[in-house]
Amino acid sequence: MTFNTLDDLTDIAGKRVLVRVDLNVPVKDGRVTDATRIERVAPTIRELSEKGGKVILLAHFGRPKGEAVADMSLALIAPAVEDILDQRVHFAADCIGDKAASAIAELKNGDVLLLENTRFYKGEEKNDADFAAALAANGDIYVNDAFSAAHRAHASTEGLARHLPAYAGRTMQAELEALEKGLGKPKKPVVAIVGGAKVSTKIDLLMNLVTKVDALVIGGGMANTFLAAKGINVGKSLCEHDLADLANQIMAKAETANCAIVLPVDGVVAREFKAGADNEVVSIEAIPADAMVLDVGPKSVDAINDWISKAATLVWNGPLGAFEIAPFDKATVAAAKHAASRTKSGNLVSVAGGGDTVSALNHAEVADDFSYVSTAGGAFLEWMEGKPLPGVDILNQSR
Ligand code: AMP
Repeated sequence: MTFNTLDDLTDIAGKRVLVRVDLNVPVKDGRVTDATRIERVAPTIRELSEKGGKVILLAHFGRPKGEAVADMSLALIAPAVEDILDQRVHFAADCIGDKAASAIAELKNGDVLLLENTRFYKGEEKNDADFAAALAANGDIYVNDAFSAAHRAHASTEGLARHLPAYAGRTMQAELEALEKGLGKPKKPVVAIVGGAKVSTKIDLLMNLVTKVDALVIGGGMANTFLAAKGINVGKSLCEHDLADLANQIMAKAETANCAIVLPVDGVVAREFKAGADNEVVSIEAIPADAMVLDVGPKSVDAINDWISKAATLVWNGPLGAFEIAPFDKATVAAAKHAASRTKSGNLVSVAGGGDTVSALNHAEVADDFSYVSTAGGAFLEWMEGKPLPGVDILNQSR
């Protein structure tokens, strides 16, 4: 993977830099409830501003489907961006045309301007060439710092890079470098942990991983589907019995690719899905007919931790059990802590992300100790599925 970074951008004083950022933050009663995404793009904005660029932010917010929708205006987010940057953030009520142009004309070197929601135009999601050209008219340089939107070929994530010299922002760069270490050119052995509720949402992911990794640990509810396919009675556990054939195909593909499949050998079972429910550890062959497995058991955790100890690289998506309800968080927390300590001692590159993984690792209080935790969601999963990411590919081509 080769792409231009901000290190390649030397003389930008006075230049108009269009920066695609992810400001799609959760908002309740007009207030941003989680500003993580804004914090992640702040270093790029600050760096460009300090270098004297006129920083023009492009982003989407919500799903307005090509219409101007008042409660999806980025004007609502501007104050939070201002707070985090500790710098005035100007706002223009349009992302193209006269309103954008006149706001840009007012900018001094180092100023930051946020343009209105790109998805107020249908051309954004259609990656319309005229719309991309109208956006490009606002800038001299394009920086993409929104990895989380890079799985979409939209005008502001892909089309723009066809009009302007394109660069990866610092967050995009960090994400791409981490992903390269995770599956692109990983140090072997590579172990993947995939957990979570269902196989059906992760078919492409599992199919791709078995061709890339040395061992695939399967935990969470989805392990039950694999166990059932092997003829094990999983009682009342969450299980997609109709996916037995698919589970067998995944296991066969793994065997051909020399990828070990690591399934639980014991489980923590309960009769109710609730915190503090009465529970017991049983061997995987002895799941009571009226019980459900809510976490992988201690022997399985030992086996998983042995694999983590052997691994040079770990990629992780999905919890090993129903981690939101104690005590069914034990396996996820134990494996996460082990991976974190191997990472801290310099023995492991650990890359995690997607869906509930971030909250599971936060719950285990180890998110900061992993090599990289992606908050990108869909884009991270598509990368793990081996799918092309248009917003990244175009940066490669622009090099
Ligand atoms: P996903 O979004 O597919 O990664 O799934 C995450 C969800 O899977 C979490 O809400 C967990 O509570 C749930 N989960 C994990 N293990 C189990 C299990 N053994 N039984 C039921 N739900 C589970």
